[in-house]
Amino acid sequence: MAFRLCETCASRFGKSGGISRLENEKECHICRGSLANSERLAKEALASSAEFEWSTFSVASSFQQSVFVREEEVADSLAPGMFTSMKNSLNSYFSEKIAAATGKKNAQRFAEASFEFDFISGKASARPAPAYVFGRYLKLSRKHCQSRWHCSGCGGRGCDACGGSGQNYPSVEDEIGKVLLGAFGGRSCTLHASGREDVDVRSLGTGRPFVMEVKSPKKRGVDLAALEREMDDNPNVRVAGLKGVKPHFVDAVCNSHFDKEYSALVSAERKLGTADAKLVDGLSGAFLFQQTPKRVLARRADLERRRKIYRVSAREEGDGKLRLCIFAEAGTYIKEFIHSDQGRTKPSVSELLGCNTVCEELDVVGIRDFFLETIVD
Ligand SMILES: [Zn+2]
Ligand SMILES: [Zn+2]
Repeated sequence: MAFRLCETCASRFGKSGGISRLENEKECHICRGSLANSERLAKEALASSAEFEWSTFSVASSFQQSVFVREEEVADSLAPGMFTSMKNSLNSYFSEKIAAATGKKNAQRFAEASFEFDFISGKASARPAPAYVFGRYLKLSRKHCQSRWHCSGCGGRGCDACGGSGQNYPSVEDEIGKVLLGAFGGRSCTLHASGREDVDVRSLGTGRPFVMEVKSPKKRGVDLAALEREMDDNPNVRVAGLKGVKPHFVDAVCNSHFDKEYSALVSAERKLGTADAKLVDGLSGAFLFQQTPKRVLARRADLERRRKIYRVSAREEGDGKLRLCIFAEAGTYIKEFIHSDQGRTKPSVSELLGCNTVCEELDVVGIRDFFLETIVD
């Protein structure tokens, strides 16, 4: 018995006997004529790829499972292990077509455009892969949160409580996002950052490392230095060192933990002076035992962690307040180090000075992230 195959399917079995070639593709034992759509699908996908900028592409195609079953049946009987599979042969067919039509390169990893050929629905399209931009942000505001934080009253739809914004606070994500979205012509974006600061904490110095993921970008050749300059006018959030990176950099940044320097303004129930500052200096080199702060207990497990205060120096700031410069191990809760969190952090500035203390203002002034530069490529 001979298998009746279309020209395209027959060609994948080389010179094997046992095949009779068909004029009417619809009768093909393997593809039932679906491959006859290949050229139309290639045109469709190329047309949709013209709507955005890209320089490398990947190809994927999907078929009904029964097609593979029938292909295997033919292969087992005629040419076990000696044929080119439908998926491979179609993917190279499309890959060659796209390369010939556009002069661009196939790159299965990190491709900027993904072409999908669906022989089940008979549709094809090209979609832009997200763009990833690394940088460091400065947060100059004590009223911005890091990521979009939906208003608890309305869940993001907008209500009187949030002034219609749908957000509890304006966010770093949106401030950077609107500039990048505009330039890339993207649909939405997500901020991935190395840790986060509280809403009332500023991030100064060289800034906090982040990767912004821009989804569905229409453009890629974006002048990032111009975007940095554009954000220089933003009173709340600035960015520096913008650079396009590969997707895996998101994990590298999100899973990073760095030692940090802080500046804290501390007041107490009594006036603090030089003698107190001297005492505080003595905490340099101390190991803290920090029970998970009460304010984050709802989200984090209650456990004790040990963190080192590498260095702390204090001076009188006037008004009976102290200015503390603190260099601490990654993951130290600084506000708790100051007010003790009702004894859950030991030692603490409060315990040492024998009075209740308050961290009035806190700024991150340095993140020791220099190693990031070495892996950014
Ligand atoms: Zn066929
Ligand atoms: Zn609301």
